[in-house]
Order: sequence, then structure tokens, then C-alpha cells
Amino acid sequence: MSKVTQTVNRELRADRPVSLGELASPARLVPADTPLADIDRTFRAERALRSLVVHDGDRYALLSREHVEYTLTGRLGYGRGLHVRSTAAQMVSGNSFSLPGHLELGHAAQRILTLPEESRYRDVLVLTDSGPGVVSVSQLFERLSADFRYAALHDSLTGLANRRQLEERGATFTTDDLAGVAVLFIDLDGFKAVNDTFGHRAGDEVLVGFADRLRGLMRPTDVLARLGGDEFAALLVNVTEAQALDVANRVVHHAAAPFASDGHLLHLSASVGVSMAVDVVDELELSQLDALLRHADGAMIKAKKAGKRQVARLDGKGAAPITRNALIRRRLTAAFESETFALNYQPQLDLVTGECTAVEALLRWHDRVLGEVSPAEFIPIFELSGDIHRIGEWVIDQACAQARRWLDAGEPRSVAINVSPLQLAARTVVPQVLAALAAHRVPASLLQVEITEGSEITDLPRAIGQLQALRDAGLSIALDDYGTGYSSLAMLRDLPLTTVKIDKTFIDTIEDSPQDALLVGGVIDTAHALGLRVTAEGVERAGQLHLLRAMGCDTAQGYLISRPVPAHQLPAVQLC
Ligand SMILES: [Mg+2]
Repeated sequence: MSKVTQTVNRELRADRPVSLGELASPARLVPADTPLADIDRTFRAERALRSLVVHDGDRYALLSREHVEYTLTGRLGYGRGLHVRSTAAQMVSGNSFSLPGHLELGHAAQRILTLPEESRYRDVLVLTDSGPGVVSVSQLFERLSADFRYAALHDSLTGLANRRQLEERGATFTTDDLAGVAVLFIDLDGFKAVNDTFGHRAGDEVLVGFADRLRGLMRPTDVLARLGGDEFAALLVNVTEAQALDVANRVVHHAAAPFASDGHLLHLSASVGVSMAVDVVDELELSQLDALLRHADGAMIKAKKAGKRQVARLDGKGAAPITRNALIRRRLTAAFESETFALNYQPQLDLVTGECTAVEALLRWHDRVLGEVSPAEFIPIFELSGDIHRIGEWVIDQACAQARRWLDAGEPRSVAINVSPLQLAARTVVPQVLAALAAHRVPASLLQVEITEGSEITDLPRAIGQLQALRDAGLSIALDDYGTGYSSLAMLRDLPLTTVKIDKTFIDTIEDSPQDALLVGGVIDTAHALGLRVTAEGVERAGQLHLLRAMGCDTAQGYLISRPVPAHQLPAVQLC
């Protein structure tokens, strides 16, 4: 395992404060009648001290170093001479802002962001049952950022890893690691009947209970994930086939014990498919985990067909659907010549005006043999082969040509294009964009570049330079899939962005999970405080749209508004 993976997991398992009080450090108290001169001396003597808490009986107020220095340096026109006889109480007379310790972190962040700019200090006074405390604002926002990433990588019902985390772990494997990697695909038999007969709450109880039993069978280095519904997957490292089969058999054994729910004993069983790295040696390296999952899934189906409650392995090479990636790679070579690429456009609804004057251009590839192939499958192959620059240039040119057609038709739309971090790293984007805008006589304000947050933006200073050049030219820059990558808040601050697009993962659950709704609300407020616009991705239900509008989100994109469609099928700007 790589060091990076271990660090991420340790960080995620860390104890997580949920209320402001848990985050607070004890306050340094001074009486209300303390002369300002003494306070000034204290701050001068202790450079690391950022704030004091002034108390008058049981009333408390925060006195920050910034405020004291600002007052005493005379920028207000008075200065030291006048203020030196003041007391601490006079200094804080206007400042009664404090937050209760029981406040949830997301709520606390929202309250802080609603303060007028001049009264936002680096620390906040927190009142807990055990007395006053101080929380650093940057620490609070870092914590929220970590929470966002935690939510993106975990299944909220069982607390297990989700598919995304499994994929991230899979991506860290080297060829050497792979020799000892096994994947178990686990499916509960008869689960649907539990949901149908006893209701979803009983179903959820079974899933949580089953997840606990599975946890007990894993070693710390294994990754156990819930893929969705009653499907789980386990990624075992450093195992032989015999050991993997042994774990699989124990899963079947432990699933057979009844689950207690609401006074009932529910009897279920599990079917498990096992795949080993030797099954997928022919596959392209980048998709090893996908290949392993597909094989294990196939084996699980075989176990079901053979009567459930058992473990199966696919045998023989012929049984495995293993060559898709290899085939995609071969067909892609010819795709440029045969003109089988196209751009589809997905409208974005402006939540204030109700119009759709912006679209995201999405690359589609329809192959004669393979049918529709998703960019998630072929873009990584392009990135490996270097063809990403060629297809990237094609996308930029097509998007500008289409923007021109809309201008000519008297219905201008701005177009967002997705740019790979590799294009930024190779410095090809800026000249290509400028050339295409000029060739099609399209104003730069009609083009937006979307970049994906993540570990791939490896050369940040260079990426910033490229993005800044695009901003200077008049384009807008959106951070895509926000919340699923690393160091989220730092990205918002450091990249020259105009827009943040919140990932579908969070939008999916805002109606059901108050926690996720809170996170999304917090991100919207934070982005606005930084002067950025916010787009919600993957909006599929009217309820989500309603909530997002109430939270002040600027634009929404998703199937509820429209799927990505060819340009001529787009709804009119006013009617979407
Ligand atoms: Mg995008």
C-alpha cells in the first residue's frame, strides 16, 4: 500500500468533533475593568496570543489582538494617547458576538459568514456549560472541509467505505501489489423480501448489522465497501486464493445467523463471488479494480444461480468479459478518422432568472461495435496515450463553433468545456482556447473552463498560471465535482475560480440527510463569501431544486432540467 492511502485512512478514522464546544480551546480571561494599557502589554509580551475574553460577572466578550492594535495605532484618528486610559469593557462594548457550544459546526460556519466583514475576526467566542472557550475560524473551516471529504468517501448508513473510496484505493495499486489482491462481491439473498415485508427501517437494520459482521471478518488493511442496496465488496490485499476463499466462506457462514429486528428474527443468507488478480492479467492496468469487481460480480451471479448461500469463482478464461478496455483502446485509434465523436449539451438553470443561458458541453462517443462508450471509460485511456490533447483541442473548437451558431441565431448561450489536468500541465489549453475564440469570433465571456478538483492537479503553480491566463482573457473557471477531492477549501482560495460545482453525491441526499443539506448550505455560503457562484450538479427531483433555491444556490444542472442532448434538441433558453 502506498503511504498516501494510509494517511488518508488514518485521517478519516480520527475522532470527529461535531459541535463547536468540542473544538474550543479554553479562553484566557481578563476582568472588565482591566486597563487597556495592561492588555496592550500582554499582547506585546505574548506574540502567539490572538485574543482574550473579557468577563463582567457572567457576561463575556472576545477582545482580539487585531482590534486592540487597530485602535491603538491611531488609524481611527485617536490612538494610544486617548485610549490608554480605557478599560477592557469599553473596548468590547459593541462586541457581544458569541456562539453556543452545542452548535453544530456547519451552523456555526453559517453564523460566522453572516457577520459583517469588519467584525469577522480570526477567533470566535464560544460559550459552553463549562465556561467560555475560543475557536479559530480557520480551524473550523478546515474541519468542515474534512467532513465534506469524509461524507464523499463513506456510505452514510453503515459507515463503510463507498464505491468511490474503493476506487481510490484501487487506483493506488502497483503491479506488485496486485499479485496478492482479491475482491469479494457480496450480495444478501432474500433482502428485498425483508424490505417488502417489514419495511425499510427493518431493512436498514439488517444492512447495518450485516456490515458489522463483515467488519469483524476483515483485517485493518482490507477495504470493505457498500456498493449500494444489499451489495457489498471487500478488497483483500496480500492474500492467496485459498485465504480469500476462506474469508468468503466465513462471510456466508456469518450471514446465515438470524438478524434481530423489532422483535422478529429474520433469516437471510449471502452469495459471494471471488476474483483474483490472475483473472484480469490481460486487462489494461488502469482499470484493474473495475475488472476485478466485474469478475467478482460475475462469480456472485454464478453463486446465486447455483442455489445461493455459497461462494463461487469464475473458471476458465472464456467465462470472463475481460476485453472491453482492450477493445476500447483499439477502436479509439480509428475513432478520430471515422468522426464518431460528438458534443452533447446539458443546460444549466439559473435559479434567479429561470432561464437556461448556459450549457455544459459533454463529449460523446458512439462506436459501431461497442455502442455508446462513456467518457469515464475512454478519457483515462486518452490520458495515458497522450491523445487527450488532440481530442481536447477538438472539443474546444467544436464548442466555440456552436457558441457562434447560437449567437447568429440570436439566442446566445455560454458554453462550459471540461479540461483535463493533463491539458493544463502540458500548457496546451490557453493557446488552443484563444485560437478557437478568434477563429469563430466568439467573446471570451461565453466560454467557461471546468477543471476537476483532485490529486491530479499535481503542479498547482503551473495550473494556476494557466487558469489565470484564461481568466485574464475573460473566461470563467469552474471547479467541477466539488467536495470529492482533496484540500477543498484551499482550492477555493488558491485557484482563480469564478464558480464551484457541487458534486452530485451531495445533491443526491440533501432531501433525506439533514447533515448533507447542512454541508451543502455551508459550501454555498462559503463560496458566496469568497465571491464565487455555485452550481448544483445532478439535480433530479423538484424537492432538491426547491431546497437549493432556498439555500441561495445560483444555478442547477441535472436530469430534472434536461439530459445532455444534441444542440438542435436543446429546449429554448426561456423554456427549459
Ligand atoms: Mg463537468
